[in-house]
Amino acid sequence: MRASRYLSATVKESPADAVIISHQLMLRAGLVRKLASGLYTWLPTGLKVLHKIETIVREELDRAGALEVLMPTVQPAELWHETGRFDAMGGQMLKMKDRHDRDFVYGPTHEEVITDIARNELSSYKQLPMNFYQIQNKFRDEFRPRFGVMRSREFIMKDGYSFHVDQECLNKEYDNMYQAYCRIFDRLGLEYRPVLADSGDMGGDASHEFQVLADSGEDYIAYSDSSDFAANVERAEAVMPAGERAAPSAEMTLTDTPNAKTIADLVEQFNLPIEKTIKTLIVEASEDSEHDLIALIVRGDHELNEIKAEKLEGVKSPLEMAPEEKIRDVIGASPGSLGPVNLPIPFIVDRAVTLLSDFGAGANIDGQHFFNVNWDRDVSYSRVEDIRNIVEGDPSPCGNGTLKILKGVEVGHIFQLGDKYTKALKADVLDQNGKAKTMLMGCYGIGITRIVAAAIEQNHDDKGIIWPDAIAPFQVGIVPLNAHKSPEVMEVAEKLYTQLQELGFEVLLDDRDKKTSPGVKFADMELIGIPHRIVVSDRGLADGLVEYKARKDADKSEVKLDEIIALIQ
Ligand code: ATP
Ligand code: MG
Ligand code: MG
Ligand code: MG
Repeated sequence: MRASRYLSATVKESPADAVIISHQLMLRAGLVRKLASGLYTWLPTGLKVLHKIETIVREELDRAGALEVLMPTVQPAELWHETGRFDAMGGQMLKMKDRHDRDFVYGPTHEEVITDIARNELSSYKQLPMNFYQIQNKFRDEFRPRFGVMRSREFIMKDGYSFHVDQECLNKEYDNMYQAYCRIFDRLGLEYRPVLADSGDMGGDASHEFQVLADSGEDYIAYSDSSDFAANVERAEAVMPAGERAAPSAEMTLTDTPNAKTIADLVEQFNLPIEKTIKTLIVEASEDSEHDLIALIVRGDHELNEIKAEKLEGVKSPLEMAPEEKIRDVIGASPGSLGPVNLPIPFIVDRAVTLLSDFGAGANIDGQHFFNVNWDRDVSYSRVEDIRNIVEGDPSPCGNGTLKILKGVEVGHIFQLGDKYTKALKADVLDQNGKAKTMLMGCYGIGITRIVAAAIEQNHDDKGIIWPDAIAPFQVGIVPLNAHKSPEVMEVAEKLYTQLQELGFEVLLDDRDKKTSPGVKFADMELIGIPHRIVVSDRGLADGLVEYKARKDADKSEVKLDEIIALIQ
């Protein structure tokens, strides 16, 4: 690819609404652009990365014996009525009508559709196991889309579904997929952990999440410091033995603990782009309030002064607004500054629990990065309780070692669904004795678009992205220095460009003219994160040398021109 013909779309400044590094770098490196809340366009560089991820996923699933299919994103409501999920899915599901007034949904997931295929296409135990997958867009009307493609509304998922005649067969395929997932995440070059998980909305029994370790992650993983035990915190609590638990000690800040109605009101009333402005909510308690909560302060991380408490006075919500002075009184903040406020954990959690149980909203308690509860599920009192009860220092449920907490990004999730969907949709096959038998089902998801962000969270520095080789948009970048003064420089650069491409490398040749300074060219390549960079200059060529730098290393080196290709290979 020639830079002169390419849309690199890099930008210097980090947009104010991007709070985590991957979101900032994806915008700055020109990978994506936001169309509307939770909706992103993939630009050429981003799309190259996506395709790389998809290829690895496809190769490993094909190798594991799964069959690729492609189902429509738009699905008839009837199927969802059959499983009872048309209503049960709640606000996450985007519903629509066609011109004949028939109900449809934009698929948030595809269990219903694939089970419909299975009941029509599979008739005998002899055809089983059968494992289908697709790489397809999903739409989930996330209450709070955020962090760019990390939690978007439309996103690409690899979703897979397997069908079985008995539990033994399901166990075997579940294991097979578990192994395939490990190979996929190994090849993607990610630092991850498979963890025991609850199966949530999907129903069923066994379940593992694949968590990419990152401080910005929204999930918390509890793992034993001296065994293989790892579980997401909800699950760790569920399997934890009763007994003495260490007392929480750290101080933390309560952030992002909005009441659903309140936030919706705020957004509507002030037309606030939620990702951009609402960063921190501070909740304060009072003896005399009916709900035990009277003050609510909204703080935008970047625009502290734009959203002040008095601006929110008109908000009518289940929470009453206190005057700004009173809030300041309560939290002891100096005028002009509205937080954050450090409060002891038990205090915070008790208030958050009250908030949650009263209004059924989710909470995300950050501060010392302790825990977080997802928005889309029925996050309630019990889940906050669960998490509250896990602190470092607790004994591991496996009996070995003590629990430590890490933050993670859920990039994959596998479940044993049992007969939840096959029963509802009457997906039977004839068994060995010629008797109709309800099939058992497994399901396997990977967040393709989320992986791009997760990879960046783990691989970056202050100059930009540092792609793992397997998913880099280009493997090699070539910068000819002052080519307008030296035809030989351009000649050598062109020759390297052709040779490397013939060897199968994807190469970005920065052939932009002298209006783009070398400094800008270097900065762009580092921002985009190309693993190998070759600089061709007059001075080097005089000694038969080019300059080489690996993106992940600090040092550059002079390499003989005729050895540079071997070095990269
Ligand atoms: P989360 O807990 O983050 O909301 P989930 O448990 O609802 O995710 P699953 O139903 O398990 O998601 O879907 C499979 C995978 O799809 C997830 O592991 C995740 O990687 C990805 N995914 C889910 N929701 C989103 C989203 N809103 N944006 C991007 N990727 C997503
Ligand atoms: Mg979700
Ligand atoms: Mg989840
Ligand atoms: Mg999940």
